[in-house]
Amino acid sequence: MDAQNKKIPRVKFPPGVRRDTLAVREGLPASAWGENSEALFLTSSFVHPDSAKAAARFGNEEEAFVYSRFSNPTVMMMERRLAALEGTTGCIGTSSGMSAITLLVLGLLKGGDHVLCSRSVFGATIKLLQDFGKFGIETTFVSQTELDEWKAAVRPNTKLLFAETPSNPLTEICDIQALANLAHEVGALLAVDNCFCSPALQQPARFGADLVVHSGTKYLDGQGRVVAGAVCGDEALIDSKLMPVMRSAGLSLSPFNAWVVLKGMETLSVRMEAQTARAHKLAQWLESQPGVSRVYYPGLPSHPQHALAMNQQSGLGGAVLSFEVIGQTPEARREHAFHVIDSTRLLSITSNLGDTKTIITHPASTSHGRLTEEQRLSAGITQGMIRVAVGLEDVEDVKEDLWTGLSRLS
Ligand SMILES: *Cc1c(COP(=O)(O)O)cnc(C)c1O
Repeated sequence: MDAQNKKIPRVKFPPGVRRDTLAVREGLPASAWGENSEALFLTSSFVHPDSAKAAARFGNEEEAFVYSRFSNPTVMMMERRLAALEGTTGCIGTSSGMSAITLLVLGLLKGGDHVLCSRSVFGATIKLLQDFGKFGIETTFVSQTELDEWKAAVRPNTKLLFAETPSNPLTEICDIQALANLAHEVGALLAVDNCFCSPALQQPARFGADLVVHSGTKYLDGQGRVVAGAVCGDEALIDSKLMPVMRSAGLSLSPFNAWVVLKGMETLSVRMEAQTARAHKLAQWLESQPGVSRVYYPGLPSHPQHALAMNQQSGLGGAVLSFEVIGQTPEARREHAFHVIDSTRLLSITSNLGDTKTIITHPASTSHGRLTEEQRLSAGITQGMIRVAVGLEDVEDVKEDLWTGLSRLS
């Protein structure tokens, strides 16, 4: 404890150290034992030297660890590291990506407030925002790409704009800077779900986003081990609006899961670069396959928002792509898609993403299976669509695995 300002001390860095350095070193100073790898503090509560100290800590006169529902050293290391990568002053860890969004809504909004949200965000996000309707928080869903639709849907009580880019599975890009400008013109905040790019490729706060939401389950962990989440943003906003909800509602991140994500972030930028390079090669190869009618990948010049994506995502397309297989009818396309997926012997058939193991999914029957066919089509998700979240295998093996099924379509 830094006696002077009664704050939990920070790691000391030479001035101007860069993000890759912070990714492996930001956190808390080592404990008295001098460990080089960050410690896992599996403890629910913390002991105070005396009653006066306990009172000061409970009264927030002194920053200290009190109880792991709202403060834990391992969780704080993860929060500081993620904030450093996102370029925000604050971050709060949560038990999952969905609890991060729950915390955001509970902390920032009240009955009578209005939310504007892209129609193309994660399915559970749509469901959650709709559920908040019963508490008087109404959400309007608008186009991922048409800014005019967002402008037209603004109401005097609009308090939050919520976006996710690139979208799943179509990889549609929204213009973060334009949405931030709109939000600020109307006195609202912009939150961006940054799961797909991770801060290694895209830092929404640089483009004016006020809050950045994460599912740590995806690329931050990066090896498919734990469920975790976080909200990044201005420290004062997080301390005043989100922390009190965390204390009472307990959407807390477990120290163990925080530790896994903390260590995962050390390799985030090299993993994202390597997985993105593989995805790019795979996307180019798929574009030349006769059994494939269309490829959706922001890194390809054929992507309708290629230029915007390159500007927003550090010049890289990310590790997720989708493609459509040929077929005369929706039934035939679905059969072909199932055939390609079921012919793979390496890839994992699951709907997670952000793993070192390449994942293959049929969105129309899994992640988007609960929509009607009409809703799916209006979202651009056809029966022939396959999503691939590219991992770290040799990309030639991934191609060969897909070729088994694709070669028999044409
Ligand atoms: C997975 C995911 C979530 C939800 O995260 P959980 O950790 O599973 O709760 C939210 N947004 C996006 C874009 C996701 O991919």
